[in-house]
Amino acid sequence: MSEQAQTPNANFKPRIFSGIQPSGGLTLGNYLGALKRFAQKQDEGIETIYCLVDLHAITVWQEPEALRRNTREAAAAFIASGVDPKRSILFNQSQVSAHAELAWALNCVARLGWMNRMTQFKDKAGKNAEKASLGLYAYPALMAADILLYHATMVPVGEDQKQHVELTRDIAAKFNHDFKTEFFPSPEPLIEGAATRVMSLRDGTKKMSKSDPSDASRINLTDDADTIAKKIRKAVTDPEPLPSELDGLKDRAEARNLVNIYAALADMTPDQVLGEFGGEGFGKFKPALADLAVAKLAPISDEMTRLMNDPAEIDRTLGDGANRADEIAQPILGKTLEIMGMIRSR
Ligand code: ATP
Ligand code: MG
Repeated sequence: MSEQAQTPNANFKPRIFSGIQPSGGLTLGNYLGALKRFAQKQDEGIETIYCLVDLHAITVWQEPEALRRNTREAAAAFIASGVDPKRSILFNQSQVSAHAELAWALNCVARLGWMNRMTQFKDKAGKNAEKASLGLYAYPALMAADILLYHATMVPVGEDQKQHVELTRDIAAKFNHDFKTEFFPSPEPLIEGAATRVMSLRDGTKKMSKSDPSDASRINLTDDADTIAKKIRKAVTDPEPLPSELDGLKDRAEARNLVNIYAALADMTPDQVLGEFGGEGFGKFKPALADLAVAKLAPISDEMTRLMNDPAEIDRTLGDGANRADEIAQPILGKTLEIMGMIRSR
């Protein structure tokens, strides 16, 4: 991929777009890989647009009532993590219909060969890919539409989404090339920090995910202090003490994961964490990690509970965000379709 020439982003104003699926309760992985960094980007003064991607969530089965609740709860998690819906735009995807419309146009730009290389589809469809929804297959083209609809130049994501952002760049480049234009920017994935890929607490080779059937595999933002401590205590590890150098974690995925989580929560580097805990066993490190996780997550979880007491207010916030998103999206959608040769005469 990436054989097409990329458009330099110098012609585009810096703008961040990212999203999270309301496909379940949010996890520590979502917090460290996404939410925490979303708030930091907003505080750096960059224009930030954040989306609860409900159209992505339905690529696998969602109970309608659970989807509604998870969407509101995810909105509460954004706000509780420091995303200010006045300074950022925060909305749910399906309220801005341009996402689905641009996705259709980009379905016709993306190539089947590109889609067939997407590892998330392979992971999520599993062995029974014939039974997966067509939407799950087309998911990356919808994600490209989410990003390009705002001419976003930067996309903060976890490591697992890098391939999808690269596909977005390929779709943008092919569109620009085919229509002899420089209409779309080439968005950069921003994958930063100590915890860009938080692993399952039960299996150090698997990513922590909100849709993992095992609740013990993840820390949910809504878990109480006892549950967090218990899950960390039971996290799979090896019997060795922690090394003093990063090199010593090379073949110890589970230990490395817990060190990375500690580092990200404490705003330290993994090296600094090993400087403090090198030579110690998990009997000492796990309780320290549990205390730190509770100290950082409890205020978020408390604020989420408070916000969830007023779902109508959350809905108003999402509606307001959708209005503001729509104002940016509509002209870009219109122009895209016009470039492709469609008559726009309303
Ligand atoms: P699902 O299992 O439904 O796909 P998920 O936990 O993978 O849920 P997504 O909504 O797909 O969450 O992803 C939202 C954001 O969180 C993305 O930027 C993704 O890269 C990031 N993210 C998800 N899981 C992790 C993780 N384990 N570590 C770091 N970042 C993560
Ligand atoms: Mg995911």
